[in-house]
Amino acid sequence: MKDFTFDTYKMLLQEFINFKYEFITVEDYFTQYISSAKKYVLMRHDVDRKPENSLKAAILENALGVKATYYFRTVKQTFKPEIISKIASLGHEIAYHYESLAQTNGDYEAAIKDFEKNLKMLRQIYPVKNIAMHGRPISKWDSRLLWGKYDYKDYGLLSEPYFDIDFSEVLYITDASRTWDNIEVNLRDRVNSGYNFYFTHTEDIIDALKSDLLPNVIMFNIHPEHWAANDIEWYKTYALRKGKNFIKRAIINR
Ligand SMILES: [Zn+2]
Repeated sequence: MKDFTFDTYKMLLQEFINFKYEFITVEDYFTQYISSAKKYVLMRHDVDRKPENSLKAAILENALGVKATYYFRTVKQTFKPEIISKIASLGHEIAYHYESLAQTNGDYEAAIKDFEKNLKMLRQIYPVKNIAMHGRPISKWDSRLLWGKYDYKDYGLLSEPYFDIDFSEVLYITDASRTWDNIEVNLRDRVNSGYNFYFTHTEDIIDALKSDLLPNVIMFNIHPEHWAANDIEWYKTYALRKGKNFIKRAIINR
């Protein structure tokens, strides 16, 4: 079966809308009142490559009234000012997906300069307020270590999710490595989660939602590059199968 298509993504969004989750940007989360009586999704996208897929996701979200936060790498194949501007014009937040310490092979001084330069470059397009590390799996350098020596808050930044979001409260769901069940293939995109959900298919997340098992605040980290363009036939088959065959696959251990 085909998971990770834009149709599946659209369905995921619609279900969260149906269940009254409000989609807020990361900037909203840190600057607006967060009510404990309400439900929120922070839809984070790490734009590692294929920025045109992010634009597709941004258009789809906009049509549903969904706001997301797009963390852009500033490497050549990803930093496309026209695409970044278009995504911002659709009401989404633009953030910086940094990798400076990996980029400079652990040279802290060169890394902070690289960070400043790229942040400035992005800020010519959008007033960036949030950052998140790109966890290059083949580099031995974890770019978050930069913040042992420097402070991103000195750059007018609000957050780096790894440090500023309490993932014992906020459920973190990532499609890193193009799978939901990525604990073994995923080196750095991890948090100290307060939850123990185990999802294989996008449908498992939806089932957990429908069973009222999900907490009030969820951060998704979805890489649009992993999601394929529409496949109408597949969607029809999928919807039919779903209607007939409502099998819960989520194995949930709290
Ligand atoms: Zn990344």
